[in-house]
Amino acid sequence: MADYNIAVFAGDGIGIEVMASALTVLEALEARFGVSIAKQSWDGGAAYYRETGRDLPDGAFKAARDADAILFGAMGLPDVRLPDGTEVAPHLDMRREFRLFAGVRPARKYPNTPPLLADPRAEAVDLIVLRESTEGLFASRGRGTVEGGRVARDTMEITREASQDLFDFAFNLARRRADKGRGQRKVTCVDKSNVFVSMAFFRSIFDERAAAHADVTAGHAYVDAAALDLVRKPWTADVLVMENMFGDILSDLCGGLVGGMGMAPCAEIGLERALFQPAHGSAPDIAGKGIANPTAMLVSTAMMLDWLGEKAGDRRMVEAGDALDRAVWDAYASGTILPVELGGESTNADVTRAVLAALG
Ligand code: ATP
Repeated sequence: MADYNIAVFAGDGIGIEVMASALTVLEALEARFGVSIAKQSWDGGAAYYRETGRDLPDGAFKAARDADAILFGAMGLPDVRLPDGTEVAPHLDMRREFRLFAGVRPARKYPNTPPLLADPRAEAVDLIVLRESTEGLFASRGRGTVEGGRVARDTMEITREASQDLFDFAFNLARRRADKGRGQRKVTCVDKSNVFVSMAFFRSIFDERAAAHADVTAGHAYVDAAALDLVRKPWTADVLVMENMFGDILSDLCGGLVGGMGMAPCAEIGLERALFQPAHGSAPDIAGKGIANPTAMLVSTAMMLDWLGEKAGDRRMVEAGDALDRAVWDAYASGTILPVELGGESTNADVTRAVLAALG
């Protein structure tokens, strides 16, 4: 019997390519740390929908629910649409069904990658956008209204329960990062509480939870000012916690700050379950060329190992996650790789090889 069971959904386009990289690296880590991870691979996504009229095969959703963790590549193709005109996105259903409220989106500047800001302090960017992922403005998904062709409405929803869980997660994350020598033991609540009742409510719950985590510094920023500061001085940010829509926007901005979506990992975490996937899509423009940057996928995989290890109290898995995270850093520090996405020539296979080499 394996120590852990994960459900694997490679999906579409470069999802398949970066997943291959993750599975290769996982195998090396299992051998090195003496853990066994059973990987159940499932079809699904836009290409599957085109063939079968369904986004996932029978049993796939249940398998995701029953697995210890879910590892996702990317799903969706722009020319494949559901009857309501939206893209195929079963991971969004999993987010909602499994109550994966904490969208962890790290942005970290890696060595030897081109600087996007002139200020050398931007080399130190290492922050997390923590995006609430089950409600906020997205609670209105599929429920918005258009009245008489004259006015459209989508409604923001903030609940005490999700907000409390989110903020507790944020403070725990900042503390854990600090314990690992990362970040500044600081959480900033990003909102628009000067204008919206929902956001004032959000901030008031943040302040309540901040009082219960007094060892972590708590701060506030309005979302517009936060956007300004993320471009002017992103090295001052640690964990930024925010509503779903704000997180959707600012996490892409942060991906851009560190080079592109191939550098943007993501974990969607709930109280029981979690799904790990790069923040990027299936990138049909580069699919099949072997040049997808697997960095985001590999760091997402490291977060999966860490989460599984932390949950099970299994040092081996936490160490495997740390080792992968460090190996990605070391691969860039070695100066031997620069992905095509960042203006270099390194293919998916080159980056994977460099990470394996750094793992030793
Ligand atoms: P979605 O809506 O599904 O997130 P999208 O079309 O908005 O998808 P992506 O598929 O993430 O966006 O692609 C955006 C751009 O970033 C494309 O030009 C794509 O080639 C590039 N890109 C995304 N991920 C990677 C990656 N891992 N490596 C290299 N380039 C990437």
